[in-house]
Amino acid sequence: MTKYKGRILFIAAGALLIIIWDFIYYFVLHYSFNMQIDLLFTTLILFIGYYTGKNYDDSNETVSALSKSEEKIKRLNEELQLVLQNISEVVFHTNSKGEFQFLNQSWEDFTGYSLKESLHKNAMHFISLNERHEFLRVLRRSISEKKEKTKIDFSFQMRDGRYRWGEVNIKLNYDDDGKLAGTVGTISDITERVHNEEELLEMNETLAIESQKLSVAGQLAAGIAHEVRNPLTSINGFLQLLRDDADIKTKEYLEIVFSEIKRIELVLSELLILAKPQSVTYKRINIVETLDHVAKLLNTNAILYNIEIQTAFKQEELFIRGDENQLKQVFINLVKNAIEAMPHGGSIRIHAGMNDYNKVEISFKDEGVGMKKQVLDKLGEPFFTTKTKGTGLGLTICLRILRDHSADINVQSEQGEGTTFSIIFEAVQQQGRKKREQIHT
Ligand code: ADP
Ligand code: MG
Repeated sequence: MTKYKGRILFIAAGALLIIIWDFIYYFVLHYSFNMQIDLLFTTLILFIGYYTGKNYDDSNETVSALSKSEEKIKRLNEELQLVLQNISEVVFHTNSKGEFQFLNQSWEDFTGYSLKESLHKNAMHFISLNERHEFLRVLRRSISEKKEKTKIDFSFQMRDGRYRWGEVNIKLNYDDDGKLAGTVGTISDITERVHNEEELLEMNETLAIESQKLSVAGQLAAGIAHEVRNPLTSINGFLQLLRDDADIKTKEYLEIVFSEIKRIELVLSELLILAKPQSVTYKRINIVETLDHVAKLLNTNAILYNIEIQTAFKQEELFIRGDENQLKQVFINLVKNAIEAMPHGGSIRIHAGMNDYNKVEISFKDEGVGMKKQVLDKLGEPFFTTKTKGTGLGLTICLRILRDHSADINVQSEQGEGTTFSIIFEAVQQQGRKKREQIHT
């Protein structure tokens, strides 16, 4: 109804005017009735009334539409501000010179600088000196290639002196002449990601150095082992000859010499294993069979120490990829350590099965003396041993072989309770067996 308010009012006013006019014209002044003029006059007045009323209604409508859209813009703007001030990323806008024209609240948390002291300053001012050059280079190249978007990682110093890393996504705006008109963009905090990457890099470097050291030490050791082995063999031979003619006292001494020579030979052979890559053939092996073999092999030895080796395999076949001889060496070393940890006897349990992550998991559990934290920390270090007759190379060899097999090894140990070593291998599909079954059917 309000839409036609103007028209109704003005037409009504026109009609009133006509009535008054007619009244004065005919009844007061007594003019004679002229149908044509009267009709023309009435139509004209009504038309003017309608026209003015319509204009009035239209302008009224425009005003109310304007105020409505103004309100809408205001609301949108408020929502935009709310979003801008509450997102964790920094949002910025710079002019063609790179001076900040807008920054949201996150800027203050991110840099420690207030908005007041940062606005209208050049953005480059906040980038670390040593990175400014590279930053500008990437930016200039993007501008010269008329790119619309570019992404740059950079570090900067916060107000309190701490360094942080940011990833800036910039949208480059150009004017009609193709000149840079300004930029808008976001900055996200990537400090944690960069730190993690740096840590990883550092760790890799240390590992590389360690393994280099180990391989140099290994090569040296292998060289020495070779050199020592030959004279040792002749010493051993000549001493055997001497033993035949020796008196009882000398024979007793010679026995000690022989047992020491045996020990030297043991250390030398382990050193050679560690340093020299033997012929290794990786193939699909049923680890259950290998474990069974090792258990049987060491059982006679274990019985001497009143130790029982028990095996529990969840499946008859568990396939992995590896070198059987090397893995046997790992298992023998672990079982030997377990035997040596149980001077008063007990039992060793060897388990094998698929774990929750679909990997092959093998464990060696003993009821031996267990290990202190200091021992656990040094486990696997070359020549680390707590035994008077130990070489301290057994676990070093194990770790090396397992690393080559991309297998994980974990240890759990409780002093006086026992120790469990578990090894985790990637499982290999049992396609071989399936094929055979298919052939049979
Ligand atoms: P070695 O057996 O010649 O001492 P290893 O590298 O095999 O060298 O073992 C290093 C050390 O780790 C051992 O001296 C021992 O202290 C500890 N250790 C290894 N396995 C066990 C185990 N099952 N129980 C207790 N201690 C162990
Ligand atoms: Mg050992």
